[in-house]
Amino acid sequence: MSKSKKNKLPIKLANPTIKELDFSNQKMVSFSQYQIYQSCNFKWYNQYINKIKPEPNINMTFGTAIHNTLQYYLTVMYKESGTAANKIDIIEYFENSLKNEYKNEYTKLGKHFSNIDELNEYYEDGVAILKWFKSHRGAYFSVKNEFLVGCELPIQKEVKNNVIFQGYLDLVMYNSIVNKITIYDFKTSTKGWNDWNKKDETKISQLLLYKQLFSELYNFPIENIDVEFLILKRKITPNEFIEFPKRIQTFIPAAGKNKIKKTNESFNKFINEVFDEEGKFNTTRTYDKNITRLCDWCYLKDICKPY
Ligand code: SF4
Repeated sequence: MSKSKKNKLPIKLANPTIKELDFSNQKMVSFSQYQIYQSCNFKWYNQYINKIKPEPNINMTFGTAIHNTLQYYLTVMYKESGTAANKIDIIEYFENSLKNEYKNEYTKLGKHFSNIDELNEYYEDGVAILKWFKSHRGAYFSVKNEFLVGCELPIQKEVKNNVIFQGYLDLVMYNSIVNKITIYDFKTSTKGWNDWNKKDETKISQLLLYKQLFSELYNFPIENIDVEFLILKRKITPNEFIEFPKRIQTFIPAAGKNKIKKTNESFNKFINEVFDEEGKFNTTRTYDKNITRLCDWCYLKDICKPY
């Protein structure tokens, strides 16, 4: 089989138009906005209406660098071959990506937001994840009957007058045997997801929203779309070290009709609470604080004074 035939997606998907937004009268809304609103209305109000933004942090920098590296490796694997992907020096690619991301954020901020010990630790964690991924790749991805639909695939939809939802899907694959799409989301985590994380409906709703929007925009039946989180663990426990130090955890959330309906209702409630009929921020209501133990880690705690 020739290379081009092998790598050609055997289905035709719609090609949705992604437009530049006109920020003079349009607002962009992302999943992370919804997630922040669900965690604390007052935090969302300060971040998006008062525009008090959090400073960059090493977790975000690390997440972007490791996303970039895995997406590059998988693109080469599916567009060329597994052998070509394995020839990439992914450690060097990751190191450059981490340096560039850090440098960009440092330049914008005008000061360091990490230190050499922390940067080295995150670099070593990334190396451990990538080495593990490379030697266990077959447990997650196969070139047999699987096709890359895309990395960072865009989704965009007007969800209210002048309010545009926009997102990017980390990785979308198609399996020709079962005629199914799988939407993957990479998450970086210190020690992986426990039950509390897995039951966090807001966290899970990201892939439920993406599943529905992918179906609508790319015109593919929703019942043939699966979703999966790939959780990249920076640390492993001593027990895992002795038994099987698995650096990538998978989690497939329940994503049936009822779950999607519930997610839609909650997301639409958020949109209607924070935007008025013209798509402007609703500044006439009160945005309540949600005081929990998580306030200790909130960048707004000095302004908010939750206790
Ligand atoms: S400190 Fe707590 S209550 Fe205040 S904005 Fe942050 S999360 Fe909300």
